This record gives sequence, C-alpha cells and structure tokens, in this order.
Amino acid sequence: MKNNILYMVIPCYNEEEVLTETTKRLKEKLSTLIHDGKISKNSKVMYVNDGSKDKTWELIEEISKEDKLFTGLSLSRNRGHQNALVAGLMVAKEHADMIISMDADLQDDINAIDEMVDNYLNGCDIVYGVRSSRKTDTFFKRFTAQGFYKFMSFMGVDIVYNHADYRLTSKRVLEHFSDYKEVNLFLRGIFPLIGFKSTSVYYERNERFAGESKYPLKKMLAFAWDGITSFSVKPLRFICSLGFVVLLVSIAIMVYAFIQKICGNTVEGWTFLAISIWFIGGLQMISVGIIGEYVGKMYNETKARPRYIIEHNLLERKNEKYS
Ligand code: UDP
Ligand code: MG
Repeated sequence: MKNNILYMVIPCYNEEEVLTETTKRLKEKLSTLIHDGKISKNSKVMYVNDGSKDKTWELIEEISKEDKLFTGLSLSRNRGHQNALVAGLMVAKEHADMIISMDADLQDDINAIDEMVDNYLNGCDIVYGVRSSRKTDTFFKRFTAQGFYKFMSFMGVDIVYNHADYRLTSKRVLEHFSDYKEVNLFLRGIFPLIGFKSTSVYYERNERFAGESKYPLKKMLAFAWDGITSFSVKPLRFICSLGFVVLLVSIAIMVYAFIQKICGNTVEGWTFLAISIWFIGGLQMISVGIIGEYVGKMYNETKARPRYIIEHNLLERKNEKYS
C-alpha cells in the first residue's frame, strides 16, 4: 500500500465569509476518506492566509485549535493566489505524500477528491481537476475563460484545457517543482512540464456560495499575459514576421513609385508619408513594448526575490507545544 497522508492546500484572501462552511464540508469529506482507509488519519487541511485584511487568520487559528484536522500558514503580506499556493505546497510536501490544491470558495466540487485519491493510489503522480461545463459561470466569464485557454494553446503554451489550480500532486512531483525557481509564476503551465504519469478527473463547477471573486477582469488579463510571456516566445517571433511583412509591403510600394516615375507621374506626397510614419511608429512602439515585457521579466528573475515570507506556521506551533 502506498503512503497516503493527504494535505489539502487552500489559499485564502479575505475569505471570512466562506471559511466556516468550507471547514464543515471538508471535515465531512476527509473524515469519510479516513474512515474508508483511503487516506491516513494524519491528513490535514492547510489554509494559507494571503495577507487578508479581515478576520480570516483569526478564524484559521481558531479552527485549527479546535480540530487537529486543520492547520494554517500566514504570509507576511498579500502576495497573490499563485504565491500563496506555492507557500502552502512547499510546506505541505514536507509532511504529506499527496497534496491537493483548491480554492477556499468550494467552486470546485470536493466530491472529485475521492477520484483524485483513487487515481493517486493507482499510480498517478498528477491528477488534474477539469471543469466539465461552465453552466453556472456568467456568459462573460465563460467566454473570456474559454478564449483564454484557446489563445494560450495558440501561443504554444502547453496547458490542460479548462483546468485551473484544482489538482492533486504527489510528493515527488512537488520535490521536482521546487527546482522551478521562477518568480513570474503560472502554476498550471509548470506542472505539465514536470511530466510523470498524469490523468484528469471531471467535475461541475459551482457558484461561489459567499463572498465575491478576487479576480476582476483586469487581474485576469494580466494573468493571461503573464502566462503567455512566461511560457512562450511566440510574441517575439510574431514581431519578426511582422517586420518581414512590412518590408515586403515597402518593396511593393517602391516598385509602384518607380513605375509611376517612368510613366512621368509623381506619387502624391503628404498623405502617404504622414500615414506611413505614424503606422510604422505605432508598430515599432508595440514591438519595443513586447520586447520590453520580456526584458522586464528577466529583470525580475535575476533579482530572484523570495516569492513569499511565512509569518506564522501553525504546524510548528503545535510541535513546540507538544514536544
Ligand atoms: N486568493 C488569494 N490571494 C489573492 C486573491 C485570491 O489567496 O490575492 C485566493 C482566494 O481566497 C480563493 C482563490 O485564491 O481561495 C481563488 O480566488 P477567487 O475565488 O476569488 O477567484 P475566481 O474563482 O473568481 O477565479
Ligand atoms: Mg472562486
């Protein structure tokens, strides 16, 4: 039998409205799994407080004091969903054999956990949670999200369609993941790169039962752009191709002007010149901007600042108390 300590890593940013309910439902789920002997009784749910401004951390401390199934980490400030997740994963991998990452709002169906654990026990190292439909999403969210996945694969980024950050990973996958030191994080792009045997489980995505989304459109666009520029150099190649096209057009115009000259006509000047200058100027600025984006990324990567700083770790606190 494989070792089967499960840790669930759940980043929380201002989630006081949902935590109590989430805790209740996860307790039921994990207790059943422990009872059925599928996961060890040392399994835990680890909440990662991502610098919340409300009572989230107090709540996490309280929950973990009452029930040893729950524990928590607190980051020194808000670092965003992806960094909070990495913080949790890196701590959890020291204690667990399999780790599931999930959002605090239970939009991802927790009944998929059974199947994830089964797949792990049958020898899979990564199990991707995939949304089978988006019936409950608004039209806008559905449209933008699906456009996002299609655009990403067009840009050559290898991601699992309709999979976000609901996934099970084995300890050894996370050990290899820790060698990926990049600070521009896009987790769902990294895991397919690691390899090992993987599979997907399908589930219906629910609505958030309380609180509101922390991903407004602006953040979503930034996230998509970040994903593309972190995993693909296609935008740079695109600039190159564009340069060729513009060059060809200019040769065609040259030939046209030359023929006109031979025929004794002169090409009308001002309009043509003004448009060309502005057009090429715009293209050049966009191109420099795209290149600048990559340079900026390199700047951040070379600084290699820490991705997160842990202020409290309740696992350690408990050990201190009992040792
Ligand atoms: N989250 C976080 N830090 C942030 C923003 C969000 O840890 O800066 C967490 C949030 O608490 C939730 C998860 O990331 O558990 C996903 O956020 P949300 O549900 O708002 O995103 P959506 O499901 O709308 O894409
Ligand atoms: Mg959500």
